[in-house]
Amino acid sequence: MSDKAALVADLLAHARFLEGLDTVGVTWPADAPTPEPGPRVSVAATTDRAASLQAVRDDLGDCHRCRLAGGRKTIVFGQGNPEAELMFVGEAPGADEDEQGLAFVGRAGQLLTDIIEKGMKLRRADVFIANVLKCRPPQNRNPEADEILSCQPFLDAQIRAIQPRVIVGLGKFGAQWLLKTAEPITRLRGRMGQYQGIPVMPTYHPAYLLRNAAGKKDVWEDMKVVLKLLGRPVPGE
Ligand code: URA
Repeated sequence: MSDKAALVADLLAHARFLEGLDTVGVTWPADAPTPEPGPRVSVAATTDRAASLQAVRDDLGDCHRCRLAGGRKTIVFGQGNPEAELMFVGEAPGADEDEQGLAFVGRAGQLLTDIIEKGMKLRRADVFIANVLKCRPPQNRNPEADEILSCQPFLDAQIRAIQPRVIVGLGKFGAQWLLKTAEPITRLRGRMGQYQGIPVMPTYHPAYLLRNAAGKKDVWEDMKVVLKLLGRPVPGE
């Protein structure tokens, strides 16, 4: 495909995605200032988070709402601490995730673990990790707009259940979904936005970092901002 044809195809795909969002009533964010992370609510409310999250899982059931059900082995709901202050949102399960039913367990997942544990000095078990899609697209192709639309009530509900203080959008699909924009990740990266009042840090996907190690320093800059927002110490500062 020529560059021009690829550009036109990309624009059309974005247009279909945006049109699809309109049909399910997604509103576009006004240019609002970046919110401060809110305080955590009471202990009584936090115990509800696990139950609310389980209710979302129960609603999802043995999902056949889109064509991806036909090709998946396992639904990858996402995992971690239902009371996490920090949530990561990636794109979709790959082969390892589909096999094990867990998000980010392949090579990109190992790198994400390193970012969280070696870099941020947090425990992976203390954050929550989910994806825009809960089922693996065939041959790891990009998510389609209708698949995103089928899955999005569940990610919306997961975020409502967990009430994280900060969300990191990993790569184009995680970041664009959270910020409701079609801007490329190269422009979004490092610019805080918000998802329903929750601060969002868009950053590069760990799979991209496996191919472009130079991007790791940008991701580290982004994670430092996230740690500061959470009021956590920034290693090395
Ligand atoms: N890439 C993703 O976006 N999510 C996963 O769970 C694994 C790889």
